Amino acid sequence: MECDDSKQTGAGRLPDTQQGMRRRNLSRVLHTVAADGPLSRAGVASRIGLTRAAVSTLVDELIRAGLLEELGPERPARVGRPGSALAVSAHGPAGIGAEVGVDHLAVCVVDLRGAVRARAVRQVDNRARTPKAVLADLTALVRQMVVEAGQEGLRPAGLAIAVPGLVARGTHTVVRAPNLDWHDADLSAWLPAELPLAVDNEANFGALAELWLGDAAPADFLHVSAEIGIGAALVVDGRLLRGSRGFAGELGHVPVWPEGPECACGGRGCLEQYAGEEAVLRAAGLPPGADRVAVLAERAAAGDEQVRVALRDAGAALGIALTGAVNLLDPRAVVLGGALSRLAPWLVPSLEDELGRRIAGPGCDVVVSSIGSEGPLLGAAHAVVRAVLDDPMGVVV
Ligand SMILES: [Zn+2]
Repeated sequence: MECDDSKQTGAGRLPDTQQGMRRRNLSRVLHTVAADGPLSRAGVASRIGLTRAAVSTLVDELIRAGLLEELGPERPARVGRPGSALAVSAHGPAGIGAEVGVDHLAVCVVDLRGAVRARAVRQVDNRARTPKAVLADLTALVRQMVVEAGQEGLRPAGLAIAVPGLVARGTHTVVRAPNLDWHDADLSAWLPAELPLAVDNEANFGALAELWLGDAAPADFLHVSAEIGIGAALVVDGRLLRGSRGFAGELGHVPVWPEGPECACGGRGCLEQYAGEEAVLRAAGLPPGADRVAVLAERAAAGDEQVRVALRDAGAALGIALTGAVNLLDPRAVVLGGALSRLAPWLVPSLEDELGRRIAGPGCDVVVSSIGSEGPLLGAAHAVVRAVLDDPMGVVV
């Protein structure tokens, strides 16, 4: 399962062109009701430009598959008999999203309406643990969520996992996760075989969450997020730009100062050495520990000068690293997500100063994500939900 593309699978009795058209139309009906519902059949027909009869056939199929449900008669129409309002099912397929963090594991269940129906988080230091051990814990949380989803009448349609590392495009293999010390780990070997699986970098899922759930995210933006490391993802025309091997967006290892401190990647002076959580804590005179971002925000808000200078310098380093990306790619906006969104008041002024001084174009908006640190988890769960909406035929039997 690719996380942002529907798969063309299965062979039906109809010729390819008819089968393909039916599949696309089922998806159009489902997407329309998901976006604008509750809607009558006539309301769907007028939005997608098909006849009411054609829409009725598609709707009946989607109802039989448990993807749409009827809410009962609408208020009487001005002309003709009242239609029945349709909504995306709250008891049909659901997406299971999971996140492997450096210091936590999280799993959530999102239904076709986009509501989070169950959630579990466990604080655990995953730094010195093998993929096998970490994924055994994650599997236990996933199974707990599957049971809770079942009690809510939901059927898990797939599992998508956000990881803090490079994932080879179209595979489940984490090629490199420096902060976990994982190399070439095929996660499918340790995960439940009964669920379709997608594995992707946390920054990619964070950007998709911004695209799908954010307040007025443009169709072209560079999403930058930080926890222990710093990641970025580029959305172009409403789609992720993954790079040839799936490794695009490694902003944390863009050099800010070529002769700077050594980095775990093998380079020197990378952005993470100036704006990563550990570097900022060092500069702020604070020891590492749990929920340090909250401590940084509290101290900065209270006027602690050393913390404010550390964040200002981190913002300037971000601005320098982003200059290259903005000049090269011309995104409409830079969106700060994850931990960066909580520290934005103290990072953004120096970041904007550097960008404003260095970029060639007339400017680039710097905006703060409204989603916050749950972006990768929600993006993962919604990727499964989108895959169902994109290809209901995968569920319709
Ligand atoms: Zn580096």
